[in-house]
Amino acid sequence: MNRLPITYALALTASVFSAATLAQNHRAWDQANDNAAFKRCATKHPSQAEAKAIERELRALLAAKKPDKPGGGNGNGGGGDDGGGGGGDLPTPSCAAGKTCIGVVFHVVSDGRGNGDVPDASIDAQMQVINAGFSGSGMPYEFDLIKTTRTADRKWYTGCYGRSEQRMKSSLRQGGPDTLNVYSCRPSQGILGFATFPFSYDSQPSLDGVVILDESMPGGTAAPYDEGDTLTHEIGHWLGLYHTFQGGCGNYGGENGDGDSVADTAAEASPASGCPIGRDTCPDDASNDPIFNFMDYTTDACMDRFTVGQTGRTDFFWQGYRSPTP
Ligand SMILES: [Zn+2]
Repeated sequence: MNRLPITYALALTASVFSAATLAQNHRAWDQANDNAAFKRCATKHPSQAEAKAIERELRALLAAKKPDKPGGGNGNGGGGDDGGGGGGDLPTPSCAAGKTCIGVVFHVVSDGRGNGDVPDASIDAQMQVINAGFSGSGMPYEFDLIKTTRTADRKWYTGCYGRSEQRMKSSLRQGGPDTLNVYSCRPSQGILGFATFPFSYDSQPSLDGVVILDESMPGGTAAPYDEGDTLTHEIGHWLGLYHTFQGGCGNYGGENGDGDSVADTAAEASPASGCPIGRDTCPDDASNDPIFNFMDYTTDACMDRFTVGQTGRTDFFWQGYRSPTP
């Protein structure tokens, strides 16, 4: 969340990137991963062709919805839920006035042998981190924990990325497209987290949600990814955001901005690790790389913001895919 001194960026450890990738970069130290045991994110992004199709679909959806909502408005207040998803009586989320209120169902998956049984206090701390991250950036969302489930299953705990994901999620997931289901577990390959995008809900509603490494939560052991920003990053995807380095220095999905289709995040040739202040991998654009942005790969201590453009983009996706129809 808070910035660290520049010297921090120079802590050079083994990189998870290939030698070929490193050779392409202007400064190899930019790629230093402060803890190479971890891989920031395994969210599957659409191909460039798919991304362009999604932009067209989103515009068509918003055009069809337009008559009843003049502005960029809010879903607000947590009103009549039920969006068609998998059952259960969920409490209605409660948020401050004027916020887009998102109910969170938090699924703690443990191995039944003392690993992964995250205490409620850590979940509360995690909720505070995401709410501070979003509201501190001027995002309209507030997240309200409406339910916690606890499951001991050794296969699900370590297989939540890959072989057990489908079974785990289809057993545990609750609510509709506007309900955020979070799963804490231990994804394989050192993955810190992964998420599904809003436009995937229709075809795969039972997979919708966010999975995070339990030790990435506040107070966990996954330093320097242990302040809870993995969940903030993954929720960014859940709300429709791509990585800031998506598409590199070029255009990825849309007309409104390079790379990540957001106009006010500078293009970025590759993920940044550590906190490389002054990094500029796309020198043709006006700004340095967006290393402080939650949608890059920098450390939790480094990332602390979303942009106005990202806020607008999540609002489009919210209105198009997640907001309960009135
Ligand atoms: Zn990601």
